[in-house]
Amino acid sequence: MAPRRKKCLIFDADDTLWENNIYFEAAIEEFLDLTADLIGPTSTVAPHREAVLDILREIEIESIPRCGYGSCHFVNSLRETFRHLYTGTDGIEYLRGIDGIEERLINHPMVLMPDVAPTLEALRRSYRLLVFTKGDQEEQAGKVERSGLKHYFDEVEITREKHIDAYHELVERHILDRDCTIMIGNSPRSDILPALDAGLWAVFVPHTHTWDFEHEAERLRLVMKVEPHPRLLVAQSLSEIPSLLARVFPH
Ligand SMILES: [Mg+2]
Repeated sequence: MAPRRKKCLIFDADDTLWENNIYFEAAIEEFLDLTADLIGPTSTVAPHREAVLDILREIEIESIPRCGYGSCHFVNSLRETFRHLYTGTDGIEYLRGIDGIEERLINHPMVLMPDVAPTLEALRRSYRLLVFTKGDQEEQAGKVERSGLKHYFDEVEITREKHIDAYHELVERHILDRDCTIMIGNSPRSDILPALDAGLWAVFVPHTHTWDFEHEAERLRLVMKVEPHPRLLVAQSLSEIPSLLARVFPH
């Protein structure tokens, strides 16, 4: 293998290469609007919209370990939330409305983060590039295709969960050198902390719409405060990454 290809960058996809969470947030808003007449002070189930979100969160916490991430599973959680809210005997109009939400979520446009293509073009000259994304196999593979970015990457890996063992397996499968392999992503929980724990470098690229962003950002601040990590870098955007890495890996 040529020396210049020994260094490897592993990219997260959702909310790192392209927008993702905004579409889930939009789906939740649509669902709340659709079911607005079931929500209110007279409802014993959901006196306000926040109560509906609590029900949805509980259903998600229970179903994600069983079903994984992905739009179809998420919309099933919306259907189950609806069943909690609805006490009538028909509900077909609501269910059709949820089908529409699913259709829009699955076919959402691919909106790339600023400067993705020129940044990948610059980085591929010096680094082997991988994608490592969690979620439904078919859905994530479809997004990689629709993004128009696939040709920049040597490999695309889709996994159910990005925990430390998944990183160890990735390193072994692709015979990566931990000292010059860098995980790049927006999620402390899925991208940064498990990659550091697996002995890799990590570049945190914050995104304001990350799921549970406040909680995650606070967690990262705590981790960095308690034990600053020598292999952790922070970039405000993808376009900062080539110069940031050039300082850390000059050769
Ligand atoms: Mg992400």
